[in-house]
Order: sequence, then C-alpha cells, then structure tokens
Amino acid sequence: MKIIGHQKQIDMLNSATEKNRVHSAYLFVGQSGLGKKQVALKFAQMLNCQNTQDFKKPCGECLSCKKIEKFTHPDVITITVQEEKNSIAIEQIREMIKGLQFSAVMGGYNVRIIDDAHLMQRDAANSLLKILEEPPKNTVIVLITPVPKSLPSTVISRCAVVYFGILTDDEIKNEIKKYNLSSDEVEIINSIAMGSLGSAVKLAENRENISDCKNIISDFQNGKFLNKKFKERKEAVDLLNMLTARIRIERPEKLEDVLRMKNYITRNTNIGLTFEVLKNNLKQ
Ligand SMILES: [Zn+2]
Repeated sequence: MKIIGHQKQIDMLNSATEKNRVHSAYLFVGQSGLGKKQVALKFAQMLNCQNTQDFKKPCGECLSCKKIEKFTHPDVITITVQEEKNSIAIEQIREMIKGLQFSAVMGGYNVRIIDDAHLMQRDAANSLLKILEEPPKNTVIVLITPVPKSLPSTVISRCAVVYFGILTDDEIKNEIKKYNLSSDEVEIINSIAMGSLGSAVKLAENRENISDCKNIISDFQNGKFLNKKFKERKEAVDLLNMLTARIRIERPEKLEDVLRMKNYITRNTNIGLTFEVLKNNLKQ
C-alpha cells in the first residue's frame, strides 16, 4: 500500500502500536483527497500483520496485510454512506456494534473505519457513543472527516485526534509525473489541487479537463445560472454562495467540496479550472 506523505502520522501510529498504547478510537481530520483512509488501512495492517512479532512496520506480504489491502479482511471493515443515500444510518452503526461483540476472526484487532463520519445521522452518532464509552477489547475504531465540528463533541472527546496536513508541491508533482503531462499542465494541476493528491490525480487522469474548461459552468447545472463567464472573482464567489445553499439541502455530502472550491476561488486560483474540479466532484 503506497502512501504519499503523512510520515509523522504514520510514525505516531506505529509507535503507539509498538508500545501497545493503542487508543480504542481515533479521529482522522483533514480535507478530502489527502489519503487519510489509506493511512487508516495501513494502521489496520500494523495492528494485524502476521509477520511482525514486535508490531513494527507491517510486512505487506502476509495474508492479513493482503486481505486488508484488498478490503477482504473479515476484521477490518469500512463503514460509509451507502449508495444513493446521503448519510450514515443508525442501522449501519448498530450492525457494526453487533459485529464487535465477537473477537477478531483472524486473531488480531477488530478495526472499523467510519469514512465521512460527519455524515452520521444524529442517532447513529449517539449509538456510536455507547461503544466509544465501553470499547470491547482489541478493537480500534477510526473516524475520518474533513469537518470534525459536524460531530457531537461527546464523540470527539472520546477519540485521539490525528490531524492531516496538505501535501507539499513536490509530493503532488512527483505523483502525477507518471501521467506524462507537460510542465504547464503539472503546474496548473498543482495549483488547483491545493495539496490534495486525490484532486490532482483526478485532473491528471482526465487531462482534457485541463484545457477544455469553456463550458464547465453551463454543463454543471443545466445552464440555469451557470451559463456565463465571470467578469470578476466576486461573481464566481456569489454564485458559489448560491450553490452552497442548494447543496446544503440537495446534496449535503458535497457541501465540503463546494466550500473548499469557494475558498480556492477567493484565493486567486483559476476560476474556470476550479469549477471543473467542482463539477467532477459533484458528478461522483
Ligand atoms: Zn503482514
């Protein structure tokens, strides 16, 4: 499992595992596309690797490490928003808690990763609280979110919080090298991705988006109010303010993406290209 950056966070988790001082709940905080989930899976490998007697670096070769990488490990399960839903329901958390009553099938740790944890419904979060208060033995729950404030403070206070920073320009540029982009394209992608490898890779994989950004705006909401060029930055920000209100109601799971794009546009990124990234995010 290749992880770009975040060495400090990985070292910290390694050290906790090595010293047998693992918390029962972690909260991974940082914007989308940084690789927080990859780090959570790596952590699950540290906890479950069959080849390290002293719980140091996971080997990546044993059955346990491989199953985690392929998302088929019976004791390492990710919970997230189900398709065509926009929140994590209480039933999902209840089922998770039920599963944690049994010890790990493969003898290591039971690890549950709750991705986009801020999208838990309130009753789901309350239900989670119970297990955070009385965690079963050899269980680690990792909550992942870009917006921790959306979680109840009672949940946050039960977690060890790990912050993830954005990646450096060099880390991003290095990673998109393999897409054979021109140096101009690399610079553009890097300036739009703003430290998010996920965003950079998406753009690199769809390079036509880099040059073809003329019709972005008309594309993305049936031309209702986006079919125009912005004369000034403020116009684009105003539009995103409008969009924010709609998104909050219609697609709350995308709110964070919209807010981030608004932030970029306010900070002098290329308006057209930033909208392209947003459009792609909204399509998913
Ligand atoms: Zn291993």
